[in-house]
Amino acid sequence: MGAESGIERGTIDDVPLAMLFPGAAAHELEHVRRVAAAVDALRPDADPPEWEWFRKHAVCPEPMPDGITPLILTTVVAVVHEETGVDWLELELDVAWLRPGVPGALAAVSVACWCDIDHNTHYPAEAVWEVGTGLRLGDAFERAASRLPGWLACPADPEYWRAQAVLPARPKPRRPAVSGPVPE
Ligand SMILES: [Zn+2]
Repeated sequence: MGAESGIERGTIDDVPLAMLFPGAAAHELEHVRRVAAAVDALRPDADPPEWEWFRKHAVCPEPMPDGITPLILTTVVAVVHEETGVDWLELELDVAWLRPGVPGALAAVSVACWCDIDHNTHYPAEAVWEVGTGLRLGDAFERAASRLPGWLACPADPEYWRAQAVLPARPKPRRPAVSGPVPE
């Protein structure tokens, strides 16, 4: 719970939904919780059901920060996560401020970048639903979450997703040079 970043973490039962979404009715919050529980049920065994939230973003930041989407509630489903941190395949699900005063639900596939110029992360697939234009918070969140099962059914390999997005593949490890008999 870093005071600086304002980030808090826990299970979906720890999330203060009524505080994060002060404009949403109780049944909307229940809808969000139900969808989140369904997402937790999809996770690979090794992936902890952890959610992160930012109380300070319950109200839209003004002005909106440049180039950053202020997150309200977010989770990551780790499909492939190398301990070295050099490669990964993750599914992200967020509720965030898309534009001033306009929240939305986002789902995305995230993989490590292996370009010559390091972009760190690429999103080979993503989908966004705005809340407000006839779409309620719970429904937007459910539509975003509904992308996850299809993505989880794809090969559990970041290479598959980099190929889908025509991104450079991770270089194959070099074979050790053959250099005669191994000394005993
Ligand atoms: Zn890149």
